[in-house]
Amino acid sequence: AITRDYTPGFYEGDRPKIVTSRFEYEDSYTLERYLATGGYEGLKAALAKTPDEMSGEVKASTLLGRGGAGFPAGVKWGFTPQGVWPRYLVVNGDESEPGTYKDRLLMERDPHQLIEGCLIACYAAGLSQCFLYVRGEMALAHERIAAALNDAYDAGYIGKNILGSDFSVDIILHWGAGAYVVGEETALIESLEGERGMPRLKPPYFPAAVGLYGQPTIVNNVETLANLPFIAANGSAAYTAIGTETSPGTRMIAISGHVKRPGVYEIINGSTTFRDIIYGDEFCQGIRDDNELKAFVPGGGSAPWFLPDQLDIPFEGREAGQAGSMLGSGAVMVMDETTDIPEAALTLTRFYAHESCGKCVPCREGGTWLLRMLERVCSGHGTTADLDQMFQVGESICPGDMPHAASERLGLEATPFPYKMTTICFVGPSAYAPLHSALTLFRD
Ligand code: NAD
Repeated sequence: AITRDYTPGFYEGDRPKIVTSRFEYEDSYTLERYLATGGYEGLKAALAKTPDEMSGEVKASTLLGRGGAGFPAGVKWGFTPQGVWPRYLVVNGDESEPGTYKDRLLMERDPHQLIEGCLIACYAAGLSQCFLYVRGEMALAHERIAAALNDAYDAGYIGKNILGSDFSVDIILHWGAGAYVVGEETALIESLEGERGMPRLKPPYFPAAVGLYGQPTIVNNVETLANLPFIAANGSAAYTAIGTETSPGTRMIAISGHVKRPGVYEIINGSTTFRDIIYGDEFCQGIRDDNELKAFVPGGGSAPWFLPDQLDIPFEGREAGQAGSMLGSGAVMVMDETTDIPEAALTLTRFYAHESCGKCVPCREGGTWLLRMLERVCSGHGTTADLDQMFQVGESICPGDMPHAASERLGLEATPFPYKMTTICFVGPSAYAPLHSALTLFRD
């Protein structure tokens, strides 16, 4: 049994819930509850279509990936070369961005929804086997997914000739060993293969073309897949009717930090603002002790920081290449006026420097240098030269400029995304990102 000493903030009221509709039930993770609440109906609807028709529905739904990059899922599926077998689905359940804990709840509270999403994806994209990679620390998620997989196999939803059709697929559960970098898809693939979790260069190793064991592999995030049962059961038009034109549906957002009611909320894209989320009665109900807000981070620990005068920015998913609210991995971290900004940056930089896999020099050495300098500043021994030096070290990881929320405020040109980086994956820039925000917005 889960015991918690606070009530997590979930939606109440009548807004559409696409992925959290069962969260109110205590037994939401059981097959009985799943079937009693429309479970596996999406799979049946998918099997009644051809795979092409089903993947067409997903493309038409404009479902954007929920891992952070926001790449359209249907488009990604289309990148796999035809006629090459085997072809894999790998579920990225290695959520570990600081502040991000939405996929964990989806895996703990509604594992069958994820399993159904995997089955629909395998059917639609023609994938022959599925590997579900769950972060090592998430013991309850692992336990519940394992139980759900056994129940779904027994009931004929997974395995050979699913529901009497000629569609067969196996789902294999794999437990990670607790490395942040393995959330990066190619490092995750290395880890699945039994190698040390280090990222591969992409291109050329975009998993869709060359992935697990060198075969075409689709890597999708947990929340992305959890949307598929709804899309399959209700059609893409029902999905695009929710949210915005460019980013339909909802987003799960984990809100932590100095708010009165932290938790995970399923929010309709474009329906509200950060002010409403932080101060609204339906959501976080304001800052603890009614303190003033100092800054908030809308997209996970590696995202740029925002200031109180940016609270009215609409809450919507950023499309690749567009400036916007940077929802990223679905986390909002809130800092009130009592926050020590250098210490906050230090906490994040320490995390990323520690998690560097060491493959790329700018990340391995640069992250550590940034950490050492920041430690010096926080211990009262820093100099103004250290501040400039930190920018220089950061430049060696992200030549040009980091994108940051302060661009417009400071009269700078908005930096295009993705920005340049000298490392294979995002861990390098992540060590610099919080520090960059702190140095730019709070230099004094
Ligand atoms: P990316 O933009 O490189 O790729 C996004 C997805 O699209 C990948 O699956 C990639 O394979 C695919 N893709 C893109 N271009 C392609 C092409 N030309 N051909 C085939 N496939 C293509 O981003 P990324 O490095 O996978 O992820 C970065 C994001 O991860 C960041 O924005 C960050 O927010 C997020 N992140 C999330 C967590 C978490 O815990 N959820 C942790 C760290 C970072």
